[in-house]
Amino acid sequence: MRCLICESECSNFVDESTDSLTHHCSECDLIFKDPSLFQDLPTQKLRYDLHQNSADDMGYRAYFQKFIEFVLSSMGERDYPKSGLDFGSGRSSLLADMMSDIGITTLPYDPVYRADEELLDGRYDIVTSVEVFEHLTDPISSLKQIISMTSSGGLIAIRTEFHHGVDGHAKWYYPKDPTHILFYTPKTFEKLSEIFGCKVIAHNEKNMILLEMI
Ligand SMILES: [Zn+2]
Repeated sequence: MRCLICESECSNFVDESTDSLTHHCSECDLIFKDPSLFQDLPTQKLRYDLHQNSADDMGYRAYFQKFIEFVLSSMGERDYPKSGLDFGSGRSSLLADMMSDIGITTLPYDPVYRADEELLDGRYDIVTSVEVFEHLTDPISSLKQIISMTSSGGLIAIRTEFHHGVDGHAKWYYPKDPTHILFYTPKTFEKLSEIFGCKVIAHNEKNMILLEMI
C-alpha cells in the first residue's frame, strides 16, 4: 500500500484493539487505516450527529480558546489576519464566532452541515481546521482545497491528535473512533508542506500545528 500523502511504500500491522489493518509510512510518519475501512459520508454523519457542540458549552469555548491562543502566540510579527474560514466546522459556528469576536471575520464551512460551496471559492488570511484531518479520506485533495483558499502569506491552523508511533497505537484511544482514519505527527506536516510549498511555523508536539503559505 502506498502512502496517501507522499506515495512511499508503507509497512502494515493489525491494530488488535479495533481489528483494523493499518499502514505506516516511515517517510512521512503517517499512520492510516486501510481504505477498505473508510466509511462513506452518510455513515460518518450518524456518528457526527451524536457530537454536542453548543455555544453555551463552556468546555468547548475553553477548548477553542486554547487553539486561538496557540495560533496568536505562534504568529510572531506577521500581519494580524482579517478574514478566516473554519473548514469542517461541524454544526456549530462557535470557533468562527470566537475568531470574529477578536477581529478575524471568519465563516464556518462544513461538507455535511454547512455545505455552502461558494465559500470554497473565497480567499482567506487564515483557514482553521479543528478535528478534521483525522477524518480525511483523501488528504491530498482536501489540502489542495485548503491551500487554494489561503492567501499568499496566509496561515493554516490545524488541530488533530498527533500519534505516538506504531508501538503505542493499539493502546491509544484516538483510533477507536471508526471515523478517525489518519494519524499524523509534525513530520507528516513537514512533508505536506514540502509538497504544497508552505512551511511549518509552529506546533505544540501534541495536537496543534500552524503552517504558513509562502
Ligand atoms: Zn508518507
